[in-house]
Amino acid sequence: MTLAPQAMDAARMLKPNDRIGILGGGQLGRMLAMAATRLGLRTIILCPDENCPAAIVADTHIVADYEDEAGLAALAEAARVVTYEFENVPAASVASLTRLGVHVAPGAKPLSIAQDRLNEKEFVRSLGGRTPDFYAVETLEDLRAGLAITGTPAILKTRRLGYDGKGQTRIGTDTDNLDQTWDAAIAHAWAEVGARPSILEAFVPFRCEISVIAARGVPGPDGTAPIAMYDPPKNDHRSGILWRSSVPAPVGTALIDDAKAMTRAMMEALDYVGVVGVEFFVLEDETLMVNEFAPRVHNSGHWTEAACAISQFENHIRAVAGWPLGDPARHSNTQMENLIGEDVRAWHDWLCAPDVLVNLYGKQEIRPGRKMGHVTRIMWKSEGDH
Ligand code: AMP
Repeated sequence: MTLAPQAMDAARMLKPNDRIGILGGGQLGRMLAMAATRLGLRTIILCPDENCPAAIVADTHIVADYEDEAGLAALAEAARVVTYEFENVPAASVASLTRLGVHVAPGAKPLSIAQDRLNEKEFVRSLGGRTPDFYAVETLEDLRAGLAITGTPAILKTRRLGYDGKGQTRIGTDTDNLDQTWDAAIAHAWAEVGARPSILEAFVPFRCEISVIAARGVPGPDGTAPIAMYDPPKNDHRSGILWRSSVPAPVGTALIDDAKAMTRAMMEALDYVGVVGVEFFVLEDETLMVNEFAPRVHNSGHWTEAACAISQFENHIRAVAGWPLGDPARHSNTQMENLIGEDVRAWHDWLCAPDVLVNLYGKQEIRPGRKMGHVTRIMWKSEGDH
C-alpha cells in the first residue's frame, strides 16, 4: 500500500518534543508511550496507580484520579493533545479537558458510544451494520420479555463497564444448573449482572471472530482524512479473555473488504482521529456481525509491532499528533499470544524461541486473568497469501 503525502492541519500538528497526554497507565499506555518516545515526542500520563505499567516509560506521571480537577488541569497545561488508553475514562474528565482548552482525540463521542453497549449497537445499526438481535433490559420483567424475542441461548451483558467477559452471563446454555427452575435461572442471571441496566443478546453461533484495527488521521484542508487499515486477525478467547490473534484470518477477501468498509464507515461517522479496534463475528455463511468496538489501540493488534513496519501504537501516536500515518502493510504471517496470569512464568522459554518478539508489561503481581505480557511469533509469508 502506498500512502500519499498528507497535507495536515498545521494548527493540529505537533512538533518533536511536544507532549502527548494519556489518560490511563496500563500496558496500552505503556506501549503508546514507547512508540511516542521513539518518534521524539514526550508523554505525560494521568493514572491513579503509582506503579502502573506506563509509569516507568512515560516522561511524566500525574498520580491522580481520573476526575481529579487539579490533575486534569496539570495534564491540560502540559500536553498539546490528550488521548486515552481505556474506554471507561469518565466522560466528565474528557469534558473538563476540553473546557480547559486541550484537544482530546479520539474525543468524547466515540467514548460515549463505546461505553454503552446499547448505544453501540444502535450506532452500528444506524450505519447499516448487522449486530446480534438485542433487547434493552432495565428490570427482571424486561429480561423475561427479551428472552421471548431473542430466544435461548442468550447473553445478558451490563450496558456499561464490562470488559474481558466481565459483567456478562449466559442464559439457557447446557452449562446452566439443570436443578434450577427457569424462573430461578433468569433471576440468577439478573443477579449476576448486578440488576443493572443491561442488554440481552441472542447467542450467535459464529464460525470465528475477527477484528479490524485501523487508524484515521486528522483531516486535511479538503476535509478528507487518511486511513490506514491492518489485515484482520482471527481472535481466539479463553474464559472470555483474548488468548490468541492469528494473521491471516481464514476468511475470504470479500468478507475482509466488508469488515474494513464497516470500520471506515464507523470512523467517518465519528469524525474519528486515532486507532480503533472493531470486533466482528464471522458466521457460517461468510457474513459478518459487529460485536463491539474499542476507541483505542486494541489487544488483537499487538502483533503489528512485530509483523508491520509501523505498529498500531505508532499509528495512533502519529494520528493524534496530526502526523502522516504509516504503512500498515504486514510483512509476515504472525500469531500473537497473551501471557495471562501464570503464563508469564514461561518468559525465559519464550526468549529462547526463534522468531518470537517478547513483550512483558512489568507488572509486579501475578493474578489469575491478569494480562502480564504477550509474545508474537513471526511466520514468513508464502506465495499466494493475502
Ligand atoms: P464481549 O465482551 O461482548 O466482546 O464478549 C466477550 C466474548 O463473548 C466475545 O468475544 C465472544 O466470544 C462471546 N460473545 C459475546 N457476545 C456474544 C453473542 N451474542 N453470541 C455469541 N458469543 C458472544
